[in-house]
Amino acid sequence: MRDSTVHIGLLLPEVLGTYGDTGNAQVLGRRLRWRGFDAEVVPVALGEPVPSTLDLYLLGGGEDGAQALAAAHLRRHRRALAHGVVFGVCAGLQVLGTRFRGLDGVDHDGLGLLDVTTEPGARRAVAELVATPSGLLDGEPLTGFENHLGVSRRGAGSEPLGRVVRGTGNGDGTEGAVTGRVVGTYLHGPALARNPALADLLLTWAVGEPLLPLKLPEVDRLRGERLTVPRRRR
Ligand code: GLN
Repeated sequence: MRDSTVHIGLLLPEVLGTYGDTGNAQVLGRRLRWRGFDAEVVPVALGEPVPSTLDLYLLGGGEDGAQALAAAHLRRHRRALAHGVVFGVCAGLQVLGTRFRGLDGVDHDGLGLLDVTTEPGARRAVAELVATPSGLLDGEPLTGFENHLGVSRRGAGSEPLGRVVRGTGNGDGTEGAVTGRVVGTYLHGPALARNPALADLLLTWAVGEPLLPLKLPEVDRLRGERLTVPRRRR
């Protein structure tokens, strides 16, 4: 086992922390410590440079205005992220893509780390989201809640993270996007609390070695509950 600390970058939590996605950093830190690693969460505020030395970078969701601010800042620090493990949720996914359009019709450049473009859809997707994961993960369904207007289109440079079973996801039957070690998803929850296999995939990439399995019955119980949540009436 390596003995150095794993550094988890929590990017712009004051603008990309609206939907509780900052919890993803806590989940990763805890899952590392349970396995004997030291872990440090490094918040990076708007206006601060993004260190290129971190092992993993997290971006959460946020409203359109906050998202545009985040993208403008992160575009200046794209190189720091380009070689790391990166995980973005909702606005985070859209910022990691090549371009996104807000409700005001203005196009913004993303970071181009995912081959994804986003435009406003006809109606807001607010629902429990369930997806069958792609080959990167085991067969356990991915679960979370979604709350977004954006519809995301993948190009050939990104694979989907999963196929939607319930909810909207990207808007074309797929959910999320993966290019190399950059992952985007519409799953809030926080996603990594609700989907431990996804958390461990990111951690395996970040530490560069297989991780000991963790058996947590309460996580399994919570997943069971989430998968049986009744559908919203429309
Ligand atoms: N502003 C984006 C949208 O509505 C992202 C929302 C979010 O991060 N939940 O599509």
